[in-house]
Amino acid sequence: MPDLVQPSAFPQNAEPLLLTPGPLTTSRRTKEAMLRDWGSRDSAFISMTGEIRARLLNMAGGEGQFECIPMQGSGTFAVESMIGTLVPKDGKALVLANGSYGKRAAAILNKIGRAHSVIDKGDYLPPRETDVTAALTADPSITHVIAIHCETSSGILNPIAELADATRSAGCRLLVDSMSAFGAIPIDAKNLPFEAMVSSSNKCLEGAPGFGFVIADTNALEMAADNCHSLSLDAHAQLTGFNRNGHWRFTPPTHVVAAFLEALRQHEQEGGVAGRNRRYSRNRDVLVSEMRALGFETLLDDEWLSPIIVTFFNPADPAFDFRCFYELIRQRGFLIYPGKLTEVDSFRIGCVGHLDEDAMRGVCVAIREALGELGVRDARPPDESLRERDRLRAA
Ligand SMILES: *Cc1c(COP(=O)(O)O)cnc(C)c1O
Repeated sequence: MPDLVQPSAFPQNAEPLLLTPGPLTTSRRTKEAMLRDWGSRDSAFISMTGEIRARLLNMAGGEGQFECIPMQGSGTFAVESMIGTLVPKDGKALVLANGSYGKRAAAILNKIGRAHSVIDKGDYLPPRETDVTAALTADPSITHVIAIHCETSSGILNPIAELADATRSAGCRLLVDSMSAFGAIPIDAKNLPFEAMVSSSNKCLEGAPGFGFVIADTNALEMAADNCHSLSLDAHAQLTGFNRNGHWRFTPPTHVVAAFLEALRQHEQEGGVAGRNRRYSRNRDVLVSEMRALGFETLLDDEWLSPIIVTFFNPADPAFDFRCFYELIRQRGFLIYPGKLTEVDSFRIGCVGHLDEDAMRGVCVAIREALGELGVRDARPPDESLRERDRLRAA
């Protein structure tokens, strides 16, 4: 693959590689697409928007039955747009949470005043079919289930197909936050029943940050006129705007849209979702095996490790200090992701972005050197963290 930054040739003081879940490292070609200005009401920009919507719809297997609605803002704006537009005012949502993005979906429902309940599985474990079936049987007033495809706070890849089946069997509708999965993990409306899903420009599709998109069932959208609590986040109204004249209702992030179209073309050239999944999976495999060789342990069982981001326990060694560790790795040209988990001291390393396994080997060299400089002899996590992990996994 051309145009990948080679860590071995990484010049000092150049921009670091982002080993984060997004914004992430983009290709030169994608960045260069931002070097011109576009009139947002001009036919050239209108046709770019149209091409992006069509490509995304095709990627989700939604042609004919679904609509793709780009929405300005970060990914959360698109999540809020999906929930606010599609959960009816007299509906009720069940949130399947196992990390901060599930909690955020519940916070949105709370903020906009939609009835909801939450199943919280903690940081380690996926929600399962049996959880969903039991909750939906116990509460027939639930209309929608909200699931997180890859819960980026731990990197856990939730079993979305079984959650979709359980939701459909109970006669409910599924809303999927596929923010950090779409483009690298398959999701196909033709064989996975969902009412809507969201993702954004700056995750596995490797664009710059600035907008998200809702892919939603056309009939559900038609039923959702005037349901949204918000003027700017109303996906139904945004779609009406696109259908009328191809315009975004309000100022779009024009440069980001242009870069995103270039990013989608590169995604296609890489072999689409399957091609990207292959590269990211290889990144993860190299990362996990090199880190384990250094003595680190993953939070999750191999079964649940996504090719998106991996959580590692902090070492027990008292010489380990995360802030210094981070800084030493940063000086070597890599930004890792500080942990935000509630239950354990940990940090995360992303496998996504315009990088290959050489970057993964490069960051592991940087980590080995950082441990040496800190005087950390052993990267093994505290015994009590491992015991707690094993206890929860067994439960
Ligand atoms: C990144 C992400 C979001 C959106 O986060 P923003 O910071 O608003 O872009 C939502 N859900 C998941 C699972 C994510 O990974």
